[in-house]
Amino acid sequence: MIAPAAHPALAYARAHRARVVSELKRFVAFPSVAGNPAHAGDVRRCAGWLAEHLRSIGLEARVRETSGAPLVVARWSGAPGRPTVLVYGHYDVQPADDPDEWTSPPFQPAVRGDELFGRGACDDKGQLWAHVNAIEALLRTTGRLPVNVVCVFEGEEEAGSAGLLDALRRAPGEFAADVALVSDTPMRAPGRPGITYGLRGALSLELEVRGPSHDLHSGVYGGAVHNPLQALCEIVARLHGPDGRIAVPGLYDGVQPPSRGERAYLARTGPSDRELLANAGDPPGGWGERGWTAYERCTVRPSLSVNGITGGHGGEAGMAVIPAHAVAKLSLRLVPGQDPSRVDRLFREHVARIAPRTVRVEVRTRFGAQPARMDTRHPAMRAAARALRQAFGAPAVFLRSGGTIPVVNALGQALGAPVVLMGLARPRDGMHAPDERMHLPTLFRGIEASIRFLCAMGRDASPPAEKGRADR
Ligand SMILES: [Zn+2]
Repeated sequence: MIAPAAHPALAYARAHRARVVSELKRFVAFPSVAGNPAHAGDVRRCAGWLAEHLRSIGLEARVRETSGAPLVVARWSGAPGRPTVLVYGHYDVQPADDPDEWTSPPFQPAVRGDELFGRGACDDKGQLWAHVNAIEALLRTTGRLPVNVVCVFEGEEEAGSAGLLDALRRAPGEFAADVALVSDTPMRAPGRPGITYGLRGALSLELEVRGPSHDLHSGVYGGAVHNPLQALCEIVARLHGPDGRIAVPGLYDGVQPPSRGERAYLARTGPSDRELLANAGDPPGGWGERGWTAYERCTVRPSLSVNGITGGHGGEAGMAVIPAHAVAKLSLRLVPGQDPSRVDRLFREHVARIAPRTVRVEVRTRFGAQPARMDTRHPAMRAAARALRQAFGAPAVFLRSGGTIPVVNALGQALGAPVVLMGLARPRDGMHAPDERMHLPTLFRGIEASIRFLCAMGRDASPPAEKGRADR
């Protein structure tokens, strides 16, 4: 056993920081926006570049086709009898629709101070980069890895992971591993590492309201025709009750409430309402379901958000128009005990009940994802917590997250293995927002934590006995 503090890989990683950053800049420069046909070529080029990079550090890497965007799969299998660690990440990114809101262009990565700015810098290119560079450091200094590794980097996480989910269903053996390691989540706070043990599921919907067959003059018809944009807003206004609860009947049935002990842990270790709202950019007040803290509202309770409404005329000049149709994009977040397809049905029934008869309404489902919950007592979770504590010099906090990584539940189910969510994003790093950034000292500590975790997993030649679980 090599004492991790003296491991040459740690020194190698420290000596190569400048190159780690310059290569990450090249990675972030690909506008690999998920789920947008206009960027399909960029997604593919990014996959090709990533596979090439993984080959250059000594992995057997290929671009693997799926029914959706390609995966990049890279392996090192030189440690027979030792556990296999599956490293998951995603090289696709959210759109960056409003370049004006960015200090520097989203796909021209720029370092300012300690931070690398660019769309995907943190979610998830910068975070997966920690593990890629940990693997490189281990391979370059020792010629081997302490465990077998399979990297699975997908290209449509931000659009629902359909291709990977399909591949996991069809060929689970291809992804067999004893533990999955994922960095695609926030830390507790800057400098305070966190391991997420619960993720919300998701249901992404579109609600379209149609009225007249074409746009109408609002002077000629205003007052006599139910404006689809107005009708849409009326429906949206009835999706929540005055108590902040989602008004869809049956939606809360089966929701597993946190235990008293878990609520106490969340209250002790998680953000206060004030801290959470400060991270949210200080809205004038908090909002949500009564009887729960802000942290609980966005982690252990379901939510429904209106992501956007389009319709009519939004241009500079006024235009006296009644639009023919209007669309709202909605996303629900689901917790253990809820199933996306059931919630989808309940939502459709509710909309059918409340929709005015003066318009036609259509609900379209974009994607659904199951919630996930991991066992914090699993040895791999404990090893990750130790690795983070050593790398950051601060104890790791177990977190519940409001976010969704569609593949986490599926990975847990398919592998029968725990999924360790080692977060390397600070809460204000702008995941899904303008001026997204990776905090470089956090990236460097992440590389160190990853090296320590892989070494710890390799120390025990037999795979961890206790299986993790991911709730349906
Ligand atoms: Zn992500």
